[in-house]
Amino acid sequence: MTHFSALSLVKNALSGHKNWTEQWPEVEPKAEYDVIIVGAGGHGLGAAHYLAKEHGITNIAVIDKGWLGGGNTGRNTTIIRSNYLYDESARLYDHAVDLWQDLSQDLNYNVMYSNRGVLMLAHNVHDVQSFKRHVHANRLNGVDNRWLTKEECKDYCPPLSISPDARYPVLGGALQKRAGTARHDAVAWGYARSAAARGVDIIQNCAVTAIRRHPDGSVAGVETAKGFIKAKKVAVSAAGHTSVVMQTADVRLPLESYPLQALVSEPVKPVFPCVVMSNAVHAYISQSDKGELVIGSGTDQYTSYSQRGGLPLIEHTVAAICEIFPMFNRMRMLRKWGGIVDVTPDRSAIISKTPVEGLYVNCGWGTGGFKATPGAAHTFAWTIAKNAPHPINAPFTLERFRTGRLIDEAAAAAVAH
Ligand SMILES: Cc1cc2nc3c(=O)[nH]c(=O)nc-3n(C[C@H](O)[C@H](O)[C@H](O)COP(=O)(O)OP(=O)(O)OC[C@H]3O[C@@H](n4cnc5c(N)ncnc54)[C@H](O)[C@@H]3O)c2cc1C
Repeated sequence: MTHFSALSLVKNALSGHKNWTEQWPEVEPKAEYDVIIVGAGGHGLGAAHYLAKEHGITNIAVIDKGWLGGGNTGRNTTIIRSNYLYDESARLYDHAVDLWQDLSQDLNYNVMYSNRGVLMLAHNVHDVQSFKRHVHANRLNGVDNRWLTKEECKDYCPPLSISPDARYPVLGGALQKRAGTARHDAVAWGYARSAAARGVDIIQNCAVTAIRRHPDGSVAGVETAKGFIKAKKVAVSAAGHTSVVMQTADVRLPLESYPLQALVSEPVKPVFPCVVMSNAVHAYISQSDKGELVIGSGTDQYTSYSQRGGLPLIEHTVAAICEIFPMFNRMRMLRKWGGIVDVTPDRSAIISKTPVEGLYVNCGWGTGGFKATPGAAHTFAWTIAKNAPHPINAPFTLERFRTGRLIDEAAAAAVAH
């Protein structure tokens, strides 16, 4: 595998970029693996990378029903932040933000992490009080977040209108400076390339149709479109389809699957320097490196596995963006798409062992799991390798829905990206 460097770029440019080695090989599944990971999104591929790199487990297959990164990883709007209210969430997401800083170096693959800052706008007294509470809670947890006046918001994000005559006037905002965006495809590709180089098999276009168990109840392997594959451990990271996959092992999960949509405008010159989110109008916006404005909001109202979602939500989202950025009134939208997200009752993830020996699950990321990719993958790998919770993912168990020790981010935030 070629090591990316300035020299290798020059050498390959001179030969017309025809001699790059493949990023990961096409392989047929072996009869048996130590670990099978279901789902080749950022979380599944990342877990394979950390299992191989930090735990010396390389006899792994990551199996996907489609192409790698073709799920929510390749469909999301890439907002990365860690300014969550509760201690447990702050620890998990900030662990991820720490890993984002050097991920390109770790993978030798440019994931284009850009800490351009995420600004959350306050439009009413409730917003102001709630965001100031977040700022204080975050500081206690060592997470950077600070309060900006409306004039400081305008300085940080010049396209913002702070006119007092607006229907939703801006009263201030909370800024996490270390937060930002990354290139979603590159995250999947970087983890895939690194895992494959360490011996992990990545098997695409191969749906897992069932998880099989031994007579004693422990995990035996998976049925797939390419036949049965034995495994000592099976780890499921299948986002919106997790409950369906887990049901085949007789494990019921507290998940609902909803379409979540996003859209982009035609590309324009750099005009938008950061990420802005607004709970009151319920939308968020940033600008991609290609120049498109990247826009999104909340899930559709109805559970569904249709990857399209309804038009009314898109209309509402665009209206909300024009409300706070009147300068974008005449932008043309280029395309919209959807992904199926897995939502838990408290809107926090599950990274956990399950009642089935040898079966692990990482799910419930809902509308906001891209930002967690390195942190979730890192701690999930630990749990799989050691058959025990990592100190950071320990509160994110399946049992909390039985014991009541919820991490209620649903009550703490409106737009949860
Ligand atoms: C429109 C949209 C915008 C979003 N915006 C943000 C954002 O700004 N910030 C943020 O942090 N998060 C965001 N998210 C959420 C984020 O994308 C996800 O939480 C995260 O990418 C989940 O990663 P994953 O690897 O778990 O899942 P995925 O990338 O979805 O990977 C799961 C994989 O499992 C595979 N699979 C499913 N069933 C099977 C099966 N039976 N057999 C084999 N393979 C199977 C799928 O094909 C898929 O590739 C957004 C999501 C969407 C849809």
